[in-house]
Amino acid sequence: MAKIKAIRGMNDILPDQSPVWQYLEQTVSRVLRNYGYHEIRMPIVEQTDLFKRSIGEVTDIVEKEMYTFADRNGDSLTLRPEGTAGCVRAAEEHGLLFNQTRKLWYTGPMFRHERPQKGRYRQFHQIGVECFGMTGPDIDAELLILTARLWKALGLAPHVRLEINSIGTSEARKTYRQALVDYLSNYRDRLDEDSLRRLETNPLRILDSKAPETQAILQDAPDLVDYLDEASIEHFAGLKQRLELAGIEYTVNSRLVRGLDYYGKTVFEWVTDSLGAQGTVCAGGRYDGLVEQLGGKPTPAVGFAMGIERLVLMLETLERVPASVSGDADVYVMGMGEAGEAEALKVSEALRESMAQQVVVLHCGGGSFKSQMKKADRSGARYALIIGDNEVESRTVSLKPLRSEGEQQAVSQSELADTLTALLAAD
Ligand code: ATP
Ligand code: MG
Repeated sequence: MAKIKAIRGMNDILPDQSPVWQYLEQTVSRVLRNYGYHEIRMPIVEQTDLFKRSIGEVTDIVEKEMYTFADRNGDSLTLRPEGTAGCVRAAEEHGLLFNQTRKLWYTGPMFRHERPQKGRYRQFHQIGVECFGMTGPDIDAELLILTARLWKALGLAPHVRLEINSIGTSEARKTYRQALVDYLSNYRDRLDEDSLRRLETNPLRILDSKAPETQAILQDAPDLVDYLDEASIEHFAGLKQRLELAGIEYTVNSRLVRGLDYYGKTVFEWVTDSLGAQGTVCAGGRYDGLVEQLGGKPTPAVGFAMGIERLVLMLETLERVPASVSGDADVYVMGMGEAGEAEALKVSEALRESMAQQVVVLHCGGGSFKSQMKKADRSGARYALIIGDNEVESRTVSLKPLRSEGEQQAVSQSELADTLTALLAAD
């Protein structure tokens, strides 16, 4: 019978990859904790209307990328394509936004029916951060400052650059939109197909077009900067000033718009050249209108999401994974014969008790001494502990170095944990 395979674009994260994922996730959560952010966990499935109303009907995501299905009651549900909408829904539903500020983060899988390629998948993972109740550029700046700290912690700082822009209020964008449409309408015959369609539906997205001909036309297009309202200009100046204060380099990219409808004022992307075409590793911006749009009280908000797969790819390609990050064992314990096996179980448990940070693997599944030694070697352990009848008798353990020269030695059980701790620390 033919074997069932995973769904295209949905990846298994295998045991040899998960240590890098854990390292990344732990580093992110440590940095976020450092800044006083709190984790929130939302369901993966939400009502379809939540995404339609927040992301916008005429966006790539809602038009063609959502996994939408009818559940058994006939309700239209959708696998979340991003986390902001669900986070706003949850925060609002549980009264987290009432007269208070919030700094929240979450992580988990997102789903978009895109064409799978390197750095672009149908199930992918994001770490998202959302802040509520703060109007000023101070919080926008904090988000960028904390991401900069994260890049430093991960050793990625030299390989990412920050692009920022302000896309103003919705009124400012409306005026600009008209100017852009007027300009682009002169070039209808040269625009790519997607852009032509967007001219009617979502013209700002044309700025994002990858088509060279369209990009050439855009060279002389009106600039959003010239249409910004006073308040947005001031807000943007405040952001830039704080970034300079914190020593964070940035470039203003006046063509930067985001693919989701709910953004206004600040937008930003952290971009890398080390991944090829899929170069955006972290993206976000301000969305002061969204909470109200979803039925809540007007609440200023700003946030971002980063793609875990792309960051893992970066860590691997740039060889930034610390040597200590591995699934390797530290100690591999083998019992020979009935009494030896029983003793090995007890010794392993005692070691785990006093060496909670170390990986102590007890051999299971029997086999000859030779095959057990092979498995000990393959486990990556630095030391094998062998317990046979003699060792049981003398309450000792034979300790054999696997990664360094050195003789096998007998260590008394009472001194074993101390001896191993010292050896592992010295390596
Ligand atoms: P892109 O321009 O690459 O399509 P986007 O603007 O659609 O990105 P967002 O919705 O802002 O992306 O998501 C934030 C981050 O999540 C992206 O910068 C990227 O790192 C990651 N991401 C988005 N879509 C995917 C995907 N299909 N596969 C893997 N990572 C993704
Ligand atoms: Mg996209």
